[in-house]
Amino acid sequence: MAVKEEFLPKWIAWEITRRCNLQCIHCRSSSTIESEQGDFSTEDGKRLLDDISKLSKPTVVLTGGEPLLREDIWELAEYGTKLGFRMCIATNGTLVDDEVCRRMKEVGIRMVSLSLDGSTPEIHDDFRKQPGAFEGVVRATELFRKHGIPFLINSSFTKRNAFDIPNVYKKARELGAKAWYMFIVLPVGRGEEANAELLNDKEAEYWLNWHYELEKELILKGDNTILVRPTCAPHYYRIFYQNAKRDGLDLKRRNLVFGTGGGKGCVAGQSIAYIDCHGWLRPCSYFPESDVNVFDVPFHKAWFESKIMQDMRKIEEFKGRCGVCEYVKICNGCRVRAYWKYGDYMQEDPICNYVPVKMRIGLKSPGLDLSKKESGGI
Ligand code: SF4
Ligand code: SF4
Repeated sequence: MAVKEEFLPKWIAWEITRRCNLQCIHCRSSSTIESEQGDFSTEDGKRLLDDISKLSKPTVVLTGGEPLLREDIWELAEYGTKLGFRMCIATNGTLVDDEVCRRMKEVGIRMVSLSLDGSTPEIHDDFRKQPGAFEGVVRATELFRKHGIPFLINSSFTKRNAFDIPNVYKKARELGAKAWYMFIVLPVGRGEEANAELLNDKEAEYWLNWHYELEKELILKGDNTILVRPTCAPHYYRIFYQNAKRDGLDLKRRNLVFGTGGGKGCVAGQSIAYIDCHGWLRPCSYFPESDVNVFDVPFHKAWFESKIMQDMRKIEEFKGRCGVCEYVKICNGCRVRAYWKYGDYMQEDPICNYVPVKMRIGLKSPGLDLSKKESGGI
């Protein structure tokens, strides 16, 4: 079977444990210290990495929960490195010490991602529900700098902390992050309970426009100190294009070596995927459903056989505004937000308020009665 290069895995997040020592309000898996460890053995884990390598040599991010709580993390990471994968770790930083850094280097960890959701201990610790979490992140960045381990910072935002976005960016830069990802929280996991706090379409648009100005300034100055990207806001690619056109600029965006998107807003199920601690394969970590388990069906088969994964690649079958949008090939819309709003992941992304040209000139879109659409987000 001829396989389109764009539909091969380039980035996989693998939840190696669900246990976590924090209880963040937006956590996709509602993890706690008592959550299950994950059913798979070290040998099963290595077999999974072998299966992935039959398709490609992606970036593999070991995540959780808190992945450092899993004892065989170094064995799995080293195995992945030997297979030629770019192995990364996503940690909350609180368990990082000199020994952890030494092991990271030993097994070839290429990048670590940390979460920082506030520029001060008060804001971050309130979001993370853990006094001392902020200090844990700052201490981890000091250790990474000392040991020469590159790290990036993910920052999650809701109405609770969005006011602090510019300061968090400055803090990430000051701490020496190679990249800063501004993540607009989705309605999943514990985040579902916090739905009232989610940014709506207008607020998201405001902050994505702010982000465009930031990225524009960095590009125009030739400032490569830190790379910036919003994550899980695919319509940023539409906003970036529209604003650059308005400004009469031909802005060359930097590529992320360890990024997920490339030249497109969302590539869930197309070139990225998520495997949970029980082996369920999903298009991304926030996707609520799975129809295949990689401990039953080997990854290199599951990647193609899963109907959900196949659907993610059928851009021409998207519905609503995304179905007729002239930006769909660079944006894709968020399939998770579509699912939560309409119960159908092929529907339009409700956090984007763009009305495509074809709709404005009266062409009908399949599958959505716009007269019933509420405004103001999800
Ligand atoms: S589907 Fe939505 S949540 Fe998943 S990676 Fe894409 S933008 Fe993010
Ligand atoms: S309508 Fe859909 S495809 Fe078009 S910009 Fe918005 S989210 Fe992207």
